[in-house]
Amino acid sequence: MEKNHTRVLLDNPYLLLTPGPLTTTASVKEAMLRDWCTWDSEYNGLVQHIRSRLVQLASRLEPDAYTVVPMQGSGTFSVEATVGSVVSQDGKIVVLVNGAYGQRIVQIARVLHVPVVAVDVGETSPISAAMLEETLDAHPDATHLAVVHCETTTGMLNPIAEVTLAAKRRGLTTIVDAMSSFGGIPLDMAELSIDFLISSSNKCIQGVPGFGFVIARREALEACKGRARSLSLDLFDQWETMEKQGGKWRFTSPTHVVRAFDQALIELEEEGGPEARHIRYSDNQRALVDGMAHLGFRTLLPPEQQSPFITAFHYPHASEVPDFAFPAFYEGLKRSGFVIYPGKISSADTFRIGSIGDVRQDDMQRLIAAVDQVLG
Ligand SMILES: *Cc1c(COP(=O)(O)O)cnc(C)c1O
Repeated sequence: MEKNHTRVLLDNPYLLLTPGPLTTTASVKEAMLRDWCTWDSEYNGLVQHIRSRLVQLASRLEPDAYTVVPMQGSGTFSVEATVGSVVSQDGKIVVLVNGAYGQRIVQIARVLHVPVVAVDVGETSPISAAMLEETLDAHPDATHLAVVHCETTTGMLNPIAEVTLAAKRRGLTTIVDAMSSFGGIPLDMAELSIDFLISSSNKCIQGVPGFGFVIARREALEACKGRARSLSLDLFDQWETMEKQGGKWRFTSPTHVVRAFDQALIELEEEGGPEARHIRYSDNQRALVDGMAHLGFRTLLPPEQQSPFITAFHYPHASEVPDFAFPAFYEGLKRSGFVIYPGKISSADTFRIGSIGDVRQDDMQRLIAAVDQVLG
C-alpha cells in the first residue's frame, strides 16, 4: 500500500496496463529530476556501466563476446538501425512473420532496399524451424534471419530457440526483436546463437521511453563497418564512437531517460533479475486470465503460446454483453484507473491487457473488479 501511496503523491491518474510505455516506479521517475551533461565523464561512465550490465543480462555463458549499442529514438529506430547496418549489399534477409512487428521488419527492409524474403504464417500460428528450413532450401543465398521473440500484436511467445539454432546451422546471422521480452524472461544469447538482439528502455526493464539498444556479438558487429544505409542510424559508427570515447553518444543523448534507465536496472537487480521478474509477470498474467475467465472472457491464444507480457482477449459474446463497444469499455476502465490497449489483429475483434511494469497481482484483481463494474 506504500506503493499506491507513492502513486497518489505523483498524481498518476491511472496504471498503464500496456506493453510500454508502462507503469514505472516513483524512484525511476525521480531519477529524471537532474540535468546531466552529455559529454561529461561522469555521465559517460554511467552509460558504460549500463552497457556492461546489459551484456551481463544478455549472456552469462559468454559475456565477453557481446557488446551493447544504445540508439536514440523508440524501439523501431533500433530495429531499423540493425536491419540497415548489418545486411551487406549482396545479402538477403529472411523474416518469419506472425504479427505487426515481424511485418514492420519486412517493411523496414523494403524501404531500405535490403533484399528480403517474408514468410507470413498468420497472426495466430507460431513460427518454426521447419518453415525456416523450407525457406532456406528455396533461397540458398539468404544471409540473415530476423524473428520477433514476443509478438506483441497477440502476446505470442515465439519458440525462437529452435529457429535461431537452425539458422546458425545453416550459417546465417541471426537478429531477434526481443523488444517486449528482454529483461522479463531469462535468456542467453550465446546458448540461443543470437548475433543481434534488440530491445528498448520502456519495456521489461521498466524505464521510460527514449532509446533502444542492440546487444551484438562483437565479431558480427565489427563486420558491419560501412554497410549502413543511414547516417544517424549507423549501428557500427554509433558503437565505434561509444567504444573510442568511453560511453559518448554520437549525437545528443536522452540524458534523463538514460538516468532513469540506470535506476530501472538497479531495481531489476534488486528484484532478483529476469528470473524473479518473469515469475512476477507470470503471476500477474495468470491472475488476469483467471479473473477475466471468471467474467466470461476468452483469450485469443492457447496458454502454451501465451507470453506473460501481454494478453489478447476476444470481445465478449453478444449473448453475454449485448452492446459491447470497446471505446466505452476503454473509457470506463480509464476512469477507474486502468489504461488498456486496443487489439491489433485483423482476423478477430480483440483488446489487449499488459501485465508488465510496476504492477502486481492485487492491481490485476482491482482491474478485474473494475471490468466487472464497467460492464455493469
Ligand atoms: C514495442 C515493440 C517494438 C518497438 O516499438 P516502438 O513503438 O518503436 O517503441 C518493436 N517490436 C516489438 C515486438 C515491440 O513490442
